[in-house]
Amino acid sequence: MEKKTHIAVVPSPAGFSHLVPIIEFSKRFIHLHPDFHVTCIIPTLGSPPTSSKAYLQSLPSNIHSIFLPPISEDAFPKDTEAGKKIQLTITNSLPSLLDELKTLTSKAPLAAIVADPFAFEVLDFAKDLKTLSFMYFPASAMTLSCFLYIPKLDQQISGEFRDSTELIQLPGCVPIHGSDLPDPIQDRSSQVYEEMLERSRRLRLIDGILVNSFVEMEEGPIRALEEEAGRGGYPLVYPVGPITQIGSNQNGSDSESECIRWLENQPPNSVLYVSFGSGGTLSQHQINELAFGLEMSEEKFLWVVRVPSNSTSAAYLGSSTNEDPLQFLPEGFLERTKEQGLVIPSWAPQIPILSHSSTAAFLSHCGWNSALESIQHGVPLITWPLFAEQRMNSFMLTNVLKVGLRPKVNNDSIVERDEIAKVIKNLMEGEESKEIRRRLKDLRENAINAVLKEDGSSTKTMADVAQKWKSFSSNIYK
Ligand code: UDP
Repeated sequence: MEKKTHIAVVPSPAGFSHLVPIIEFSKRFIHLHPDFHVTCIIPTLGSPPTSSKAYLQSLPSNIHSIFLPPISEDAFPKDTEAGKKIQLTITNSLPSLLDELKTLTSKAPLAAIVADPFAFEVLDFAKDLKTLSFMYFPASAMTLSCFLYIPKLDQQISGEFRDSTELIQLPGCVPIHGSDLPDPIQDRSSQVYEEMLERSRRLRLIDGILVNSFVEMEEGPIRALEEEAGRGGYPLVYPVGPITQIGSNQNGSDSESECIRWLENQPPNSVLYVSFGSGGTLSQHQINELAFGLEMSEEKFLWVVRVPSNSTSAAYLGSSTNEDPLQFLPEGFLERTKEQGLVIPSWAPQIPILSHSSTAAFLSHCGWNSALESIQHGVPLITWPLFAEQRMNSFMLTNVLKVGLRPKVNNDSIVERDEIAKVIKNLMEGEESKEIRRRLKDLRENAINAVLKEDGSSTKTMADVAQKWKSFSSNIYK
């Protein structure tokens, strides 16, 4: 029987949207290198979501998954913030994670442990277990560069980054305003900031980082990361993307059929798809402005609406409510726009929508998966970042790659209806949109070639990674 090289993959415990990126990486890797076997060890908070279980059941036979004993929410103080809950779940799962890893290594050599950024603590076990430590970074190379560069920024700049009068220069990147840096480093007196600094220093010690990007899109930051790795300052960086979910994640659901049926009845290239990812939320005031802005634009739209909240990430990590989101739309909106748009509560089949010929543009919160999916389907963006590193992604899409437009936010952090209508019109019909679509066509082609061609840049990088893991495994256990 053919001998397989074995790797362990550790996602973060936050349910479906955190599980998918690293598993999709595993699927792609195994597809290219079927002589590997992957064991996915999954920390869980409470009982694992049904969506995650169903998704894992559909994996190929050389990806095996194990749920660790669930950590109970009762173990954490009330009001523990979502990111902290994820971190604590990992920390509390470390003993059972180590047990599983020991069991694996006792049966067969383990070439590498690949962890999600939230699960980085597990990489501390790699040396003792005589295996390599890798991280799968499910965001851009620019974001990775920022995280690795925090200790330098910390020395260079005093005060909050957002107050800096000069633009921030990250290695190999277009200079960016401090206010567009990721959320966790926006308050330098916070514990989160200290943890990011500490994590950034520890990240430098691992063996490699796989990043969900590709050279043709982020040449500047990728080359700068590689140069620093060459000097021994950073781990080796491997751009392996774009890796996104293929096909629908809710095949045959009512919402999928409804969306697709509706799109089928719209003219080609006529619809603006509006969605803020798996958990982005708007305030009631902002929902009103967006509703009126869409109506005033007179363009067709397909809008995924959530129950309003004053926290932009309120629905993130599966927090849900039983209220009907549609009741929060302005009075008469649904009736007035019934020929113009379709409103879907909470969740829509994003990939089938983006790949539909009636879809012309995407108003997005700029989560990295949404950004990549839009590029892969050649759909230009209106960038409306809400939290995490989304402002940085928006900057990249609009200022660097120039494949989208970013509406202005007023002094109360609201995007007003006139501005919304204006930006929609510009992207759907304006002169600017022609150039945007031309750039996007090239970028899309590069994205497809990077992963699908045998000599594509990311395919070749995957082969380098496979080679490295194989030779490590055969050398250490010879
Ligand atoms: N998604 C979807 N339907 C929705 C909202 C999101 O299928 O209504 C999928 C989307 O295709 C993407 C993921 O959920 O793959 C969201 O990831 P992203 O990184 O864009 O944002 P996040 O949810 O992490 O903020």
